[in-house]
Amino acid sequence: TTAARSSLKIGLIPADGIGKEVIPAARAAIEALGSDIPKPEFYNLDAGFECFASTGTALPEETVEALQDSHCALFGAVSSPITKVTGYSSPIVALRKKLDLYANVRPVVSVAENAQEKPRVDLVVVRENTECLYVKQETITSTESGKEARATRLITERASRRIGRLAFELALGRPRQLVTIIHKSNVLSVTDGLFRETIRAVPRFAENGRYDNIQIEEQIVDSAVYRLFREPQIYDVMVAPNLYGDIISDAAAALVGSLGLVPSINAGDNFVMGEPVHGSAPDIAGRGIANPLASIRSAALMLRHLGYLNGADRLDKAVDGVIREGQVLTPDLGGSSKTQEVLDAVLKKI
Ligand code: ATP
Ligand code: MG
Repeated sequence: TTAARSSLKIGLIPADGIGKEVIPAARAAIEALGSDIPKPEFYNLDAGFECFASTGTALPEETVEALQDSHCALFGAVSSPITKVTGYSSPIVALRKKLDLYANVRPVVSVAENAQEKPRVDLVVVRENTECLYVKQETITSTESGKEARATRLITERASRRIGRLAFELALGRPRQLVTIIHKSNVLSVTDGLFRETIRAVPRFAENGRYDNIQIEEQIVDSAVYRLFREPQIYDVMVAPNLYGDIISDAAAALVGSLGLVPSINAGDNFVMGEPVHGSAPDIAGRGIANPLASIRSAALMLRHLGYLNGADRLDKAVDGVIREGQVLTPDLGGSSKTQEVLDAVLKKI
């Protein structure tokens, strides 16, 4: 199917803060690939908190429609206010739902330099993207002794099974073929129990024993974080419900240096959207020093998911080369280069 496309329609949603600086860099890197991919057609689309502030909606209908008409997309970052702003809700959460992007896949790999002293990290976090506490059904009531707030946590067999399948598929393509299920079923035996049992059962429902050689382990989320910091090399594919996956993947990112390096994709059966793991970084936004490498790697992941392996490899190799040489790095990696200079170094390698 990939060969049949005469052009690759890519929606670009820089959104807020440094998203506006790093997404154009990812676009330039994709454009440099030439004939490794079908001719890219880019669509600049609006969303985010600034969009909400100026138009009253964080996710305009035109953006959703344009995406439904595209093959894939790159998303920058949204600034999320910590206190509730009336009428505002995160466009990324809405997009994941509307496009049914049920998986967030975040590979975390240590940079060659650090790998000598520290254990080498080479894992991928597969985070369920549509349910858990993110169904956002919260209520607050007043009682005699004060306010009482509640949240609903939803876990379904369907969502757990499809995220499980995706984790097993990823494991098939990796040398260690190990899936670790992250849960807290010692406390949440019903919800996390269902997640754990459903994923454990995935190989039983697979055709022709497809996942028979994949080793399954499981870990309670708190001890998983502890072991992640002490012996990250024990992990290969970690699959987790939404909230644990969120926390684990940020923690894993800290192991390899900078949030500015860690890419992700939001994937569904019909669409894929690349998104750097970092946020809008208001502390450095607008200064031209944001690290563009997480976004360029997100573009690579997106292309890989679509089957454009050569293009993805070339982007990854260019990024790895720039990091390994260590000459042109943004301040988060100890360098003093600008976003544009890092991009230029990557483009030169491509
Ligand atoms: P948000 O609410 O949008 O997530 P945040 O304040 O949590 O914003 P993050 O973007 O998550 O900020 O970043 C956390 C820290 O990591 C910040 O100090 C930020 O400057 C730094 N950081 C994140 N991404 C990058 C990047 N691409 N380049 C350099 N530094 C980054
Ligand atoms: Mg953040």
